[in-house]
Amino acid sequence: MEKPFYKRVLLKLSGEALMGDQEFGISSDVIYSYAKQIKEIVDLGVEVSIVIGGGNIFRGISGATQGVDRVTGDHMGMLATVINSLALQNAIEKLGVPTRVQTAIEMPKIAEPFIKRKAQRHLEKGRVVIFGAGTGNPYFTTDTAAALRAIEMNTEAVLKATKVDGIYDKDPVKYADAVKYNVVTYTEVLNKDLKVMDATAISLCRENKLPIVVFNSLEEGNIKKVIMGEKIGTVVVA
Ligand code: UDP
Repeated sequence: MEKPFYKRVLLKLSGEALMGDQEFGISSDVIYSYAKQIKEIVDLGVEVSIVIGGGNIFRGISGATQGVDRVTGDHMGMLATVINSLALQNAIEKLGVPTRVQTAIEMPKIAEPFIKRKAQRHLEKGRVVIFGAGTGNPYFTTDTAAALRAIEMNTEAVLKATKVDGIYDKDPVKYADAVKYNVVTYTEVLNKDLKVMDATAISLCRENKLPIVVFNSLEEGNIKKVIMGEKIGTVVVA
């Protein structure tokens, strides 16, 4: 059997990417592509935990959120991540991989509450654990939730799935001469304000020496490539 480079990871999936080419909502093509790629790495014996964003649902209700105060809006955002977590759980289980959803805001009729030891046990048993509702607090992001859960689960890295193939010195969509980094430090990311994750998430990773791998997840097979240690994307380290 192929030997993975990473044995335990946290995968941060973007909510926005789940829309595919729709205006908002969940594209079944994208969610099944994710599920397939996740099964691929579970089959290699990798312990996989996941945090998924909520932008795809949040965008759809943005009209209704105008004039809503920040904290209420953030609560709505966190609930959106739970919807995505359940959709992803369903897609992964259709492929025969056992999963559990744990939420930072308790809703025991729908999912388990987040309990660190229980989550670790699930991982050891080969179950994919999906963490919903972010950190459970307003004013945070799902990137920070991803960094936090990755540290709590003692993962070797957080794999940040995006629509671009890594971190550039400037926006590659706007500037033709943008240069991609293969490796970059946390401090450089913070000082140059490179668009990777928000500063809270980066600081948390820096303090706990948790590497971040940024890569394009829309190209099928890329999650496995990262797991096998192929040098695609950008790695953020000390
Ligand atoms: N959110 C929050 N606390 C958290 C995580 C998320 O309040 O710990 C809210 C916040 O409003 C955020 C939304 O949930 O904008 C959805 O998450 P995010 O925008 O990070 O998702 P993505 O951009 O990956 O789709």
